[in-house]
Amino acid sequence: MKATIIATLDAGNKRKVKGFGILEIDGDLLERQQGQPLDVTRNCRESLPGWSLDILEMGAFDLEGEDADAATEDDTPKLWAFRGHLVKVEGIFRTNEERALLVKEAVWKREKRLDKLVSLERVDEALKDRPGREAIPEKVKVLVWQRAKGRCQKCGSNAKLEYDHIIPISKGGSNTDRNLQILCEFCNRSKGATIE
Ligand SMILES: [Zn+2]
Repeated sequence: MKATIIATLDAGNKRKVKGFGILEIDGDLLERQQGQPLDVTRNCRESLPGWSLDILEMGAFDLEGEDADAATEDDTPKLWAFRGHLVKVEGIFRTNEERALLVKEAVWKREKRLDKLVSLERVDEALKDRPGREAIPEKVKVLVWQRAKGRCQKCGSNAKLEYDHIIPISKGGSNTDRNLQILCEFCNRSKGATIE
């Protein structure tokens, strides 16, 4: 039982999907994939090489109908589409609903992972090391960020975050994860005020 995202469709772009050489999908499909995942394998199999997926045909595919039962006990890989992703599903399932669940899981996992990376990237942009200082290693940054769950470790805010050296570099502190925490700008400034 395996679900692999094999392609992501950009609106407006047409893209051929490797391993399913006969498939070419229009970007419009993106908008049709916000709800239930669809099995596009059947449509592809019946098509000719170079055939472009007909949007009307996609709409006509009925997951609740006879195809839902026909697809069980069949372990040939199926191609499903969900939220603009094409997902290859392999294995034997009792119902097509189970396939749909696995497809959704694969897409959600990917989206969650990408969201996380985007927020990490944003923080990284926002938290550029001050010039003249030895940069905090990426690995350490990620570790500290994940440990703090992306929030100020004093007040829990998720705005204007900064990496803070618990013991300042000027006082012999280092760029290790144990000496680093995430603080918002406000907490960082007020911390500075109490120390000095
Ligand atoms: Zn704070």
